[in-house]
Amino acid sequence: MHSSRLYCLSMQYYLLTIGCQMNKADSERLAAVLECMNFSRTDNEHSADLIGVVACAVRQKAMDRIYGKISAWNAEKKRRPLTTFLTGCVLDYDRKRLAVEFDHFIEMKDLNRLPDILGRTAEVKEALPTDSYLSINPHHTHQYKAYVPIMNGCNSFCTYCAVPYTRGRETSRSPKDIIAEVINLLENGTKEILLIGQIVNKYFVPVDADFDKFLFGVVETYNLPDLPELHTSLFREKRIVNFGTLIAILDALPFDYWIRYTSPHPKWFTDDLIATVARSKKLVPHLHIPVQSGDDGMLRKMLRPYTVEQYKDIVHKMRAAIPGLAVTTDVIVGFCGETDDQYENTKKLFREINYDMAYINQYSPRPGAKASNWEDDVPHDEKERRESELNNVLRQTAFTNNQRQVGKIVRVLVDEYDDAKGENTGKTNTFKTIKFEGPDLAGQFAEVTVASAEAWGLRGNL
Ligand code: SF4
Repeated sequence: MHSSRLYCLSMQYYLLTIGCQMNKADSERLAAVLECMNFSRTDNEHSADLIGVVACAVRQKAMDRIYGKISAWNAEKKRRPLTTFLTGCVLDYDRKRLAVEFDHFIEMKDLNRLPDILGRTAEVKEALPTDSYLSINPHHTHQYKAYVPIMNGCNSFCTYCAVPYTRGRETSRSPKDIIAEVINLLENGTKEILLIGQIVNKYFVPVDADFDKFLFGVVETYNLPDLPELHTSLFREKRIVNFGTLIAILDALPFDYWIRYTSPHPKWFTDDLIATVARSKKLVPHLHIPVQSGDDGMLRKMLRPYTVEQYKDIVHKMRAAIPGLAVTTDVIVGFCGETDDQYENTKKLFREINYDMAYINQYSPRPGAKASNWEDDVPHDEKERRESELNNVLRQTAFTNNQRQVGKIVRVLVDEYDDAKGENTGKTNTFKTIKFEGPDLAGQFAEVTVASAEAWGLRGNL
């Protein structure tokens, strides 16, 4: 089912991006490649000449959405010229079924080959990097918040997860590229950098004299007398940049901005990293640390190499080191064989940790993941019950935590302004949604007094 449409200069593309921040960041690189071929973006799929899907294999619901969309687009193709392509996290199983539906399939790592695949090499305005697709300059979609991927892939093979089969093995991006990208963003007004990767705290890159030269260039440009000292102490023993080193370097940059990161893995959250994170002035006081289950037996079955006690220890140390820290998590209910008692342990953990927010997922098997060969034996109704009950516990802990914010002055990065209401909506440094009236402050930091609190948000006064 291939379209033979001849492209002209005013071609428009539409991107459907599903899933995590990594997919969103990939999508920004994909947009850059498409625009480099003279396509312009449209938010209207019905007027697009080219439709690309950045897929997510993590949940069946996401894949079902793609099956629904492609049959509608194929029906539309009978009425007008349209080309479709699929990329992102796609398992072999889905890829085989979708290959006959989409015109093209491309692995994200081969993004520099997209012009060739679409027959648009003649239109490419500048040569695309060939080393790693992460070296492609992204077309950032947000003016003052940016995703910056630092690593890609995963070697952990948690038994419920398909990501290692779609994204392949872990690779860390060059620190020079990351720092250069961050500086460029900050110089252009970005206020928040989100460092992303499947396991950000496994970031690890050996460096050489070329990196020293680059870093001393940064020192000279921004007059950072402390950085050489930091550099010497960081590199004294091993010439590597790990996640802590990267944070320390980014922290030294003389811009007013926030750093967030997602997701860290409890197994690699060392005391050294806790100390670095606590010292940082740019990192926000928010720890998103996936637990997945509050039961040691379930964690073993999931191939998550930590115990509930070790997990709690990290949270306690982080809370002791960072006053006002907000803690959020990801959790699965109804994983294969999860008994009532095991689920109750997760509920108990939720009460002990007092999470500010959690992404609670009902288990669904993903083809390719090891657990897809096991019996998915917790009935759907029971998964629903566990999710809803856990959500109620979360609502209580989030509400209590938010109540403690009332009367405090919090720093907010404003996301948007509603003209009709004269109201700003933004996120606090602890990642809580807050609304307050006043002039349009979109894209700016504001100091806001928290006036009232609900479980899922705050209201304040400028
Ligand atoms: S750490 Fe586990 S859950 Fe996260 S991407 Fe890797 S396999 Fe999936």
